[in-house]
Amino acid sequence: MNRTAIVVCDCRNEYQDSVYGKQHRFGNPVNRMQKDGVYAVRCTSCGKVHNLGSMSSVRHTVPSSR
Ligand SMILES: [Zn+2]
Repeated sequence: MNRTAIVVCDCRNEYQDSVYGKQHRFGNPVNRMQKDGVYAVRCTSCGKVHNLGSMSSVRHTVPSSR
């Protein structure tokens, strides 16, 4: 749970384009779905939910500082 990710999204956000790369957006965890083993994150720019598959099979993770 609580896994963030950089996802490719089709929304416009020039700031995140410059930080993460063209069309790449920072995704906040959707804990409600991650609790069930679905690696889902919500685009911080447009709010779209990106389903990245199961929690165990995804490697594009950003370590959360805690
Ligand atoms: Zn987006």
